[in-house]
Amino acid sequence: MQGVRNRTAVLGTGEVPWDSPVVPADDPGLRGDGFFETLLVHGGTPPRVVRLREHLDRFERSAAAFGLPLDRSAWEHLVAGITDDLPAGTEAVLRLTASAGTCTATLRPLPDGVRRGRDGVHVVTLARGTTTVPAAPWLLTAAKTSSYAVNSAALREARHRGADDALFLDAAGEVLEAPTANLLWRSEGRWHTPPQRDRDVLPGTTLAAVTAGFGVHETPCRPDELLRSDGAWLLSSLRGAAPVRTLDGNPLPVDRAFTATLRRTALQD
Ligand code: PLP
Repeated sequence: MQGVRNRTAVLGTGEVPWDSPVVPADDPGLRGDGFFETLLVHGGTPPRVVRLREHLDRFERSAAAFGLPLDRSAWEHLVAGITDDLPAGTEAVLRLTASAGTCTATLRPLPDGVRRGRDGVHVVTLARGTTTVPAAPWLLTAAKTSSYAVNSAALREARHRGADDALFLDAAGEVLEAPTANLLWRSEGRWHTPPQRDRDVLPGTTLAAVTAGFGVHETPCRPDELLRSDGAWLLSSLRGAAPVRTLDGNPLPVDRAFTATLRRTALQD
């Protein structure tokens, strides 16, 4: 695996030195008033940005929710500039971040923890409270906002409890999603994911790719039902499909063949 150096680019300016002061101290994004996308740059010659179109589609929806314009071709140009000349086999994290003040892209090596997570994760359930969210677009539930404090706190709590990741439960005790991933499970020969509508579950690009490949049912589910499933996975752009090894300390079956198939599908555009 070849190395990749940290890179920063600013919309309208292009690449700047990594440690340039690109964000003003009072940027709204620093208060969580912004939105972002995290994409995988994956292997190959040359390495490619996985599902750029789908990520830019969601980026556009986030911009619309913020009432901000989004010049898609300018972002495409920025992405092309920051991912050019990558050595064959590079795996990297591309992050696009926008607020009313600043629009940037960064490229960084894939963290080791992400790579390890692909082999399987130990997960704990954490309450997130609300059962349904009202049809209130001003709550920005469909946007991937940069107000990630709750998501990061959940991951910290999971690690504090000796796990790798968390699975949010709603007030009725039904599973929702992980702080940075959607949930998929297999039961009685069918693929399932929790219902998204009105539940503040982010529509993931990885889940959409898997759904297009296999057909997935939206099924309400409690943790004890998950434990009786034939396997569960956390789906996200960087890890692809991470098999859930344990849930609250209880083992789940891990199917290597399904994991390999899901991982291949997760890398497709
Ligand atoms: N759910 C949440 C809350 C997320 O933050 C993410 C990604 O960061 C996902 C799901 C998975 O989305 P994707 O598959 O597009 O990476």
